[in-house]
Formats: sequence, structure tokens, C-alpha cells
Amino acid sequence: MKVYCKDCQKKLPIDATACKCGASVDAEPVLTDEEVRPFIQKLHKKTNDLRHLLSHCLSFVVIGLILLVIAFFFYYLAFGTATIDGEKVAVLNTKCSEFWVSMVALITGGAAFLGGAAIGTLVSYKKRQILFDIDQIRETHSLQVKSVDIIFVVWFKAIAAKIRHLIWVLKYKKSVKEEK
Ligand SMILES: [Zn+2]
Repeated sequence: MKVYCKDCQKKLPIDATACKCGASVDAEPVLTDEEVRPFIQKLHKKTNDLRHLLSHCLSFVVIGLILLVIAFFFYYLAFGTATIDGEKVAVLNTKCSEFWVSMVALITGGAAFLGGAAIGTLVSYKKRQILFDIDQIRETHSLQVKSVDIIFVVWFKAIAAKIRHLIWVLKYKKSVKEEK
């Protein structure tokens, strides 16, 4: 459980008695009917900011992927042929500039891709949490909110449900075929 600061919408530990902004936190903070709407609007604004951040992360992932393709291409170019024992074989030439271009593209592309993906996952988890909080606050008017499952757990559950559905569809098709 966490608790929201009534004044600055910062999320605090459930046992906090005061926020950094100076506002005190009640033991069981509840919003009045008039306070709920503006409070939720401010939280929506927060999710909007996170959405912008998320699109930046996505750009990093895309740029990373492009660099990785470039890295792969230059790595391929770095191969030359050599004749060993009268047989022509492909040999990687680590001294040519193509090889170094591919390595630089691999490192920067990999970092952009992984960094974008990791931060993007965290941001989307945070965004989901705030949307979940909004639902709770709208319903209970209480500023104390439960946490939501980590996004990986949510994905895992969604994938498991999809697989179960797929198995069910396959079984169903099979049984229909057998009936014919
Ligand atoms: Zn505060």
C-alpha cells in the first residue's frame, strides 16, 4: 500500500506522516467529492507526461534496432576471402574499417535498444500504476492505494491466457473435423 500526498500528488510510503512538500499526511486521508475531480485531473496529467517519455523510449528502441541492422551489415562486409591449403574460405578481417564500424554500431545500437526497452518498461509500469490508482481513488475517495502487479507478471498472465485459448481453439477445430 502507498499513500498520495493531497497537495503535490507525490506517492509516499503508507506510514508517512508528512510529505517533502511540507504537507502533513492524515492517518486515513480521504478526499471530499469536490476534491476528487481536480486530484484525478492532476494524476491524468502525470500519465500524459509519462506517455511522452514512453514515446522517447520507443524512438531509442527503433534507433537501436536500425544501428543493429547496420552493425550486422558492416560485420558481413568485414569478411574477406583467403586461400588456405588451396581452398577459398571466408575470413573475418578485424583490421578493416568495416569491422570497427560494425563494432561501434553494435555497442551504441545495443545500448540504445536495451536502455530504451528497460526504461520504457519501467515507465509503462508506472503509467499503469497511476491509471490503476485513479480507478481506486475514484471509487473509494481514499488516497491510500494498492500496488499493481509488475508488468512482467501481467504480460506472463496475458501470454498464458493466449496460449490456453489457442490450445482450446486447436482442440475445438480437431473435434469439429472428427465429427465430419
Ligand atoms: Zn506533498
